[in-house]
Amino acid sequence: MKNKKQIAIIGGGIAGLTFARCLTTHKYDIHIYEKKEHFGEVGAAISVFPNALCVMDHLGLLPDILENSGQLKTVYLKTSKGTILSKTEPKSDYPVICIHRADLHKILLDKLDARLYNNHSLKKITHFENGQIELEFEHGENRIFDAVIGADGIHSVVRKCIINDGPPIFRGYSIWRGVVKTHFETGYGSETFGKGQRVGIVPIKDGVYGWWATCNEVFMQDDNPEGTKKKLNRLFEDWHYPIPDLINNTDHILKTSLIDRIPKRGWTKGNATLIGDAAHPTTPNLGQGGCMAMEGAFILAKSVQKYGLTKKAFARYEELQYPRSESIIKESLKLGKMGQLSNPVLIRLRNFGFKIMPSSVAMKMIDKYFSYRVTALEI
Ligand SMILES: Cc1cc2nc3c(=O)[nH]c(=O)nc-3n(C[C@H](O)[C@H](O)[C@H](O)COP(=O)(O)OP(=O)(O)OC[C@H]3O[C@@H](n4cnc5c(N)ncnc54)[C@H](O)[C@@H]3O)c2cc1C
Repeated sequence: MKNKKQIAIIGGGIAGLTFARCLTTHKYDIHIYEKKEHFGEVGAAISVFPNALCVMDHLGLLPDILENSGQLKTVYLKTSKGTILSKTEPKSDYPVICIHRADLHKILLDKLDARLYNNHSLKKITHFENGQIELEFEHGENRIFDAVIGADGIHSVVRKCIINDGPPIFRGYSIWRGVVKTHFETGYGSETFGKGQRVGIVPIKDGVYGWWATCNEVFMQDDNPEGTKKKLNRLFEDWHYPIPDLINNTDHILKTSLIDRIPKRGWTKGNATLIGDAAHPTTPNLGQGGCMAMEGAFILAKSVQKYGLTKKAFARYEELQYPRSESIIKESLKLGKMGQLSNPVLIRLRNFGFKIMPSSVAMKMIDKYFSYRVTALEI
């Protein structure tokens, strides 16, 4: 088709790729700009919940995802000594799955109908009076588009040009993550609570497990000269099996200081808008950042399909996506505070609360987020 509208997506992460896949109309040419040398993801696990798997199902990607992932059939909350505080068995029309991020990324990228540009770091966008938008890249290249989708993550340059609400906020703790092949095949996941420290374990597949560990500390605290593994061994050495083993046997450990932003409306300016972490970054305590990125990408794509590149399309997207993202960001922040408690009295109260809470109540609390089906929305 001649005179197709040109859409630029900034960022080739979960949000950008999912949006490109969802926009299944031949009215647009899609260009994805990624600042990294290669399109790809880090070596860590990601949990994808039923509320986002329905989007992957809609895209026909569910069989590939299931084949490459593990299912979280039972989740235990434990103390560092291994005492079980609660047991939850999520039940839904879709499973809760855990997958290596690189595998999920590969599946989203496979046979994608878009032009891909790596080594393209966006510097700024400029709106013209005729509605078009100019992209300026760090290496000096300039390109003009009919619409720009900022899927460039928590430090989004597009967000800076649209909202300009400053840097993200550090929430007082670090997280280390790894993926490791083990000899056990348990199929359950767990979250273990200590004093200002936590560990999560999720099954990927064939005995491969993803784990994460947190500790209260200052922003971007350097693990050296002690070294990351030695430090984690010291912090978690007396925690229950298999936590010390998992840490010890992991070759590559990633560290991140946990940050988010205060939810803020106004994601759109002209034909430029934000999706994923660029729009609504959250701490990972509900495991919903990537899931929301998929939901938002779906809504925006369907809205553009229905209303074209119009004010109405972007407004409808934000109207549907903002309230849910606000609620998740706030709830996740609260859960993080509770998880990172360091006062012994409050820790005892928290653990007691977990212990006496009926699993039906726990299920109801998480179901609020996981039973949402974006594919059933009236766009
Ligand atoms: C420790 C941790 C655990 C998590 N666990 C889960 C979980 O279990 N489940 C879940 O759903 N979510 C989880 N999340 C959240 C999830 O990782 C993010 O919400 C998700 O990756 C957001 O995807 P995105 O595409 O919006 O952003 P990103 O994944 O950040 O992708 C943005 C892309 O844009 C590129 N980019 C950035 N700036 C530019 C630029 N200027 N020009 C061009 N390209 C640029 C980046 O290189 C990157 O490829 C977790 C997050 C963390 C930190």
